Amino acid sequence: MNSKSPQNYRPETIAITAGRPDVGPDSLLNQPISLNSTFVAGGAIGYGRYGNETWTALEVAIAALEGAKTLTYSSGMAAVTAVFSTLPVGAKVVASNQGYSGVMTLLGNLSAAKKLNPKFVSIADTAEVVAALDGADLLWIESPTNPSLDVADMPTLIKEAKSRGITVAVDNTFATALTQQPILMGADIVMNSVTKYLAGHSDVVLGSLSTNNSDLFKAIEDARKFNGSIPGPFEAWLALRGIRTFPLRFQRASENALEIAKRLSAHPLVTRVRYPGLPTDPQHAKAKAFMKGFGAIVSFEYDGDAAATDKVCESSKIVTYATSLGGVESLWERRRRWPIESASVPEALIRLSLGCEDVDDLWSDIDAALHAAKK
Ligand SMILES: *Cc1c(COP(=O)(O)O)cnc(C)c1O
Repeated sequence: MNSKSPQNYRPETIAITAGRPDVGPDSLLNQPISLNSTFVAGGAIGYGRYGNETWTALEVAIAALEGAKTLTYSSGMAAVTAVFSTLPVGAKVVASNQGYSGVMTLLGNLSAAKKLNPKFVSIADTAEVVAALDGADLLWIESPTNPSLDVADMPTLIKEAKSRGITVAVDNTFATALTQQPILMGADIVMNSVTKYLAGHSDVVLGSLSTNNSDLFKAIEDARKFNGSIPGPFEAWLALRGIRTFPLRFQRASENALEIAKRLSAHPLVTRVRYPGLPTDPQHAKAKAFMKGFGAIVSFEYDGDAAATDKVCESSKIVTYATSLGGVESLWERRRRWPIESASVPEALIRLSLGCEDVDDLWSDIDAALHAAKK
């Protein structure tokens, strides 16, 4: 594997250079899709559930972006599960009460099964999180949160948890390594839903974990080997191809997000806009203190009930009514259509994932949909 990508390259360069084969006459520019369930005896991999050259190429690229050794998994949730599986029965996990619904549901299920002991807190309320830390084994930080865009004071929370010897894991899916590198802030482990910005084309489900703690690395590698939650080589290849344009896509989508957030803030049919990049957002000052950007998700509340809000989502032509986020194509959805979404998320909240389309085309589409639901 090409080790030409030293850590001091900027992410725009890392995304393009990392995870390529070694260079020589007629060497391959791109890592091929390795379709092998087994390997000739005597080597380092051995079997297709233990390793794969295409996974490795993707892992080298994510590792260079996050600043820590990386493993990829069959989904973001498989990566989350791998972290939880390293904890002893009864371990106390402090986590956000308004985070990704899949993680909250999983923690709820593990609690009901008497496996883990989650304590849910408002992650944006630093004092509340710190007060919950005593006796905790793991602090799970998601910031900004999905879909409420709450921002955790990451430097403070990481410092407080580490001073108590608590392992800190960060879900970096919304922020990405381009706006914050939790490992450099002192977190132990970073999780990404590669499905979203890293792969970026809404055509693959994949997850990753990054850590420089060798015991933790061994534990999560074992979790992947023996739980069997491995990525497919084709999916890994697609994600690596996506990473080549990730900084470009993310920059454009973030620009679209700020502009659309501003226009939504002035719209008569919108009652509240959440985007940490808006100077008027209550999370802005905190986010600005340690983030290098604010991402490309905007959540807003429609001036209407659930049915009218559904109608908004159904009325657009460019923006697709679908779950998920982080692709080149803009998507939106009323989050409460999912029964597992937190009841604290308003019925009329729409989560909008900005893609890379022209911002004026997007705005015409969004404005028309907002009005169509009022007719
Ligand atoms: C999508 C998502 C996940 C789960 O990832 P999958 O790839 O869908 O399994 C976890 N956290 C956040 C913040 C997400 O948006």
